[in-house]
Amino acid sequence: MTRILNFIGNQFVEPTGNDWLACVNPATGETFGQVANSDHRDAAAALECAAAAQPAWQAMAAEQRSRLLHRLADLVETNAEELAQLETQDTGKPLSVSRSVDIPRVSANLRFFAAAGTQFSSESHLDAGLLNYTVRQPLGVVTCISPWNLPLYLLSWKIAPAIAAGNTVVAKPSEVTPATADYLARLIVEAGFPAGVINLIQGQGDRAGAPLVNSPLCKAVSFTGSTRVGGWIAEQCAPAFRKLSLEMGGKNPAIVCADADSSTLVDDLIRASFANQGQICLCASRILIARERYADIRDQLVERAGKMVPGDPLESATSQGALVSEDHMNSVLGSIQTARDEGGLILCGGKRVRPPGRCANGYFVQPTLIEDLAMQSNTNQNEIFGPVVTLTPFDDEQHAIELANQSQYGLAATLWTRNLNQAHRMADQIQAGIVWINCWLRRDLRTPFGGMKASGMGREGGLETMRFFTEPKNICLSPYGC
Ligand code: NAD
Repeated sequence: MTRILNFIGNQFVEPTGNDWLACVNPATGETFGQVANSDHRDAAAALECAAAAQPAWQAMAAEQRSRLLHRLADLVETNAEELAQLETQDTGKPLSVSRSVDIPRVSANLRFFAAAGTQFSSESHLDAGLLNYTVRQPLGVVTCISPWNLPLYLLSWKIAPAIAAGNTVVAKPSEVTPATADYLARLIVEAGFPAGVINLIQGQGDRAGAPLVNSPLCKAVSFTGSTRVGGWIAEQCAPAFRKLSLEMGGKNPAIVCADADSSTLVDDLIRASFANQGQICLCASRILIARERYADIRDQLVERAGKMVPGDPLESATSQGALVSEDHMNSVLGSIQTARDEGGLILCGGKRVRPPGRCANGYFVQPTLIEDLAMQSNTNQNEIFGPVVTLTPFDDEQHAIELANQSQYGLAATLWTRNLNQAHRMADQIQAGIVWINCWLRRDLRTPFGGMKASGMGREGGLETMRFFTEPKNICLSPYGC
């Protein structure tokens, strides 16, 4: 049985309370190990260790910090297959996806911020003999909290900029998917990071995560997860004026205009809807289609989605794996029942799947398309975070924008049109932090990433993250006196 411990000061440490959670493979329903369910004592130990390590880490040359990040990226690449296998075991996603998306992105994140740390510069202003220069100092110890859908991908997206900027980190991976973070800890030691620069606390959010958010030693919280938990964290951080970056839920529209190019449209919409079983915060969950194209595109989507049979994530032909847990599968099936109760027509899918063989007890749900629901229905308003997508026709450009914006969320939107003017007009009016035109999930790591409204606060990516993890201080020098 695997036992996943905390990682504090480059040591693997048992939880003080000797409390453990089961690690379950969602593709088989089998328990394969245990993970520490830490508490405030473990959190305090990790924060103190990170605080002790921080001054020396900040004093180290950016070039040296960068070299360590590159060495860690090298080790991730050398160990990519082991990491991909663990990611699939924890999440149920197809191994092909772990291999081609999740793990390559981890080393890309590490390398990107290894470079950013050496290129990050600050401003100076000389005017009428007065010199202003701005220094950007690390914050100290920062807390990084990440979810289960892209476990190591999102964890590394936070840790890398935090340490590149000279902070030390206590990170809390999701208790549902702790294995790759634990493996990364071994690589952190092998890469030669000083003890205490990166620490990992495993366990449930309210028990292990809350004390990392509330401690006076924590100078900033970078959180990715649900809007509910993000809201709670914001309440905790506000009285202490603790810096906060929140990446939260979404209910993303995909808008197909009447002139959309057909060549790859249906393939692209299917991928945007069902990649990672719909468990990507950027997945399209409301497809809005120009009325004159509606029936044709709906029928093609239904045909394609109907052929996607969820199956064993280890088989190379599998495009749809398991959902991450039994609880989450039940929540998704509950949302499909809500859609039926609201009068929605299930066009395809809607049911649990029991693949033959070792995955018969896994948590699989068919890709599901639903129509005939009002935009104000629960199904169209609440995040489901699974392979469930609604289809809605629209009459004209303005109607599409109204439907797209009828949401508390504002993370991402996609827009499919050949009309450049229309694309710019619509992108300008859509309430989302990211708008893709004729593509989906194309990412340049330099760009700001994040949502508006209930989807987030602040932005990650590129220099935005480096700014988040530093405190600017302006120093004004007047050589000629006042
Ligand atoms: P979640 O909010 O339940 O948990 C996220 C993390 O927060 C986990 O590590 C969890 O243990 C921790 N946590 C929970 N309660 C806590 C508390 N009281 N104090 C401190 N930490 C706590 O989310 P989830 O179910 O793991 O992930 C799914 C959600 O994440 C979806 O809503 C999805 O949209 C969102 N998400 C957003 C983005 C984005 O970039 N906007 C990316 C991926 C996922």
